[in-house]
Amino acid sequence: MAEIRLENVSKSFGSVSVISNISLTVNAGELMVFLGPSGSGKSTLLRMIAGLETIDSGSLTIGGIRSEALPPGHRNVAMVFQNYALYPHMSVRDNMAFGLENIGLPAAEIETRVLMAARMLEMENLLSRKPAQLSGGQRQRVAIGRAIVKEPKAFLFDEPLSNLDAALRVRTRVELAQLHQRMKSTMIYVTHDQTEAMTLADRIVVLNQCKIEQIGTPMEVYLKPASRFVAGFIGSPG
Ligand code: ADP
Ligand code: MG
Repeated sequence: MAEIRLENVSKSFGSVSVISNISLTVNAGELMVFLGPSGSGKSTLLRMIAGLETIDSGSLTIGGIRSEALPPGHRNVAMVFQNYALYPHMSVRDNMAFGLENIGLPAAEIETRVLMAARMLEMENLLSRKPAQLSGGQRQRVAIGRAIVKEPKAFLFDEPLSNLDAALRVRTRVELAQLHQRMKSTMIYVTHDQTEAMTLADRIVVLNQCKIEQIGTPMEVYLKPASRFVAGFIGSPG
């Protein structure tokens, strides 16, 4: 599991500067939450780490290796999106295995990894189903399974639960926390929901208008908010 480090990273879209000189470190094995309102730069930061967006200046290292030496296909970070795009014509098993064939893993190794992920997510009995035969929560678990089988250096979640209803959101959140406990994996979890952030995070990066307002443990940002914005967004006392 890898440390992720951003130093003075900047990013413009066309002539519009979006991210300006952001620095932060996600420790190996840490569950870091990027928390902020819509448009605060959460997805852009995550997409740069995943290699889905280029970085204009500054440096990004994953496991000590600079991103220039890690083209997107070789970054070995797994991203899980809000609208988990599963292949409708493929079984759960094949959806999870998809992509592992491409990197030349032997069939037996693929099967082992799929079974392990299915066991971890309690989906062993669903492996031959098609996505249309699954509930929304089960589909999202397949999307998480697809990330697990890659055995990535880090997991990147972009608001993965926001399409689920409230009860399922809570349940899946608890499962994700347990998964993190078991795998001791580096995870970045993006959300605009302060309850999710408070319950999941080892540390929280609070973002507003593409700037870091504060980085701290849930208790630190709650009890010692660094700004009015943080206090209001987190709902700190007093
Ligand atoms: P969040 O995920 O927190 O909602 P984003 O990272 O998606 O925020 O967006 C941060 C800012 O960057 C917003 O002002 C958004 O409009 C802008 N932005 C994001 N992607 C693009 C893009 N491809 N082209 C132009 N502007 C973008
Ligand atoms: Mg976003």
